[in-house]
Amino acid sequence: MSKFWSETVKGITPYVPGEQPGAKKVIKLNTNENPYPPSEQVLSAMKAAVSGRLKLYPDPECVGLRQAAADYYGLSMENIFAGNGSDEILAFCFKAFFNPGETILFPDITYSFYEVYARLFDISYQKIPLDEQFGIPLEPFFEQNGGILIANPNAPTGKFTSVDSIRQILVHNPDKVVIIDEAYIDFGGESCVPLIPDYPNLLVVHTFSKSRSLAGLRIGLALGQSELIEGLNRVKNSINSYTLDAVAQVGGEQSLRDTETFELNVGRIIKTREHTVEALRALQFEVVDSRANFIFVTHPVIPAVELFEALRQQDIIVRYFAKPRIDNYLRISIGTDEEMEALYRALEGILAEQAG
Ligand SMILES: *Cc1c(COP(=O)(O)O)cnc(C)c1O
Repeated sequence: MSKFWSETVKGITPYVPGEQPGAKKVIKLNTNENPYPPSEQVLSAMKAAVSGRLKLYPDPECVGLRQAAADYYGLSMENIFAGNGSDEILAFCFKAFFNPGETILFPDITYSFYEVYARLFDISYQKIPLDEQFGIPLEPFFEQNGGILIANPNAPTGKFTSVDSIRQILVHNPDKVVIIDEAYIDFGGESCVPLIPDYPNLLVVHTFSKSRSLAGLRIGLALGQSELIEGLNRVKNSINSYTLDAVAQVGGEQSLRDTETFELNVGRIIKTREHTVEALRALQFEVVDSRANFIFVTHPVIPAVELFEALRQQDIIVRYFAKPRIDNYLRISIGTDEEMEALYRALEGILAEQAG
């Protein structure tokens, strides 16, 4: 605690990102990155953008990237906002759409950044308890509120909520913004983007960090009707007009144009996930049905924290959250087939040791 800190900074609890081990060779299954690299098309466009033109500011409107997004999603450019990672977009949303004194709603088990932002921006919030199977109960989201945030598929459970359920939430909240964070939607869920023309209160947020193999570049998109996009632009242009650098803009644009590599990698990850789920269930793990590039698992005999430590000893890093209701679960990102095979062998060994 420092006397120089503002009252806000004294009061907040910052988000703790999953660790990024330096040069050490580990099997990294803790932050849901894509195990496959970005395509040559993306990399060569970025290399070409590392040029004398970097002396100039980047395009503040991100026109190339937004046009590619409009083409990809079948929307128009005025429906697209680009940000420096979707985390930044979510932060802007708190300023753009929520008011202090009006209580926003999000699930009790979800992406922990939502609570961090609510505290930073002084927005009161209520956490809606998920049901026993980590499903989202609808009725609580029909009550009066100041706005709604739902990750779909949810994190860290990977569980998908149907588009029809989201539609009901939209219908019951015509005067409030409903933000659907679809960070993992490409791994088998059904997107709410087609609802955008019918629901002016819907904002869908996407990221290039997971399905598009560009976590290091920091690109996110928000998709919605133009008045919501304009609200985000008002916040952005009151903080930093150039949130996306010139290299990221061309990389993101080419990623959206190279649908072939994107679909290939997403397909591989889904296949590896299904295979991993089967293998871990055979080891007695309970695995939550996942539509994401990670799985959420618990074992009936060995506590999650012990498994976490034992895996770590073998240089396999997964994610453990010491939080109510989920402190006996591990969140495991889906890597390559080889990485998941190593995980399986390690778990098999740990379990055998316990039994023996
Ligand atoms: C990873 C993640 C994000 C953040 O994505 P960035 O674009 O890398 O900032 C947002 N929401 C959820 C639910 C995530 O898991």
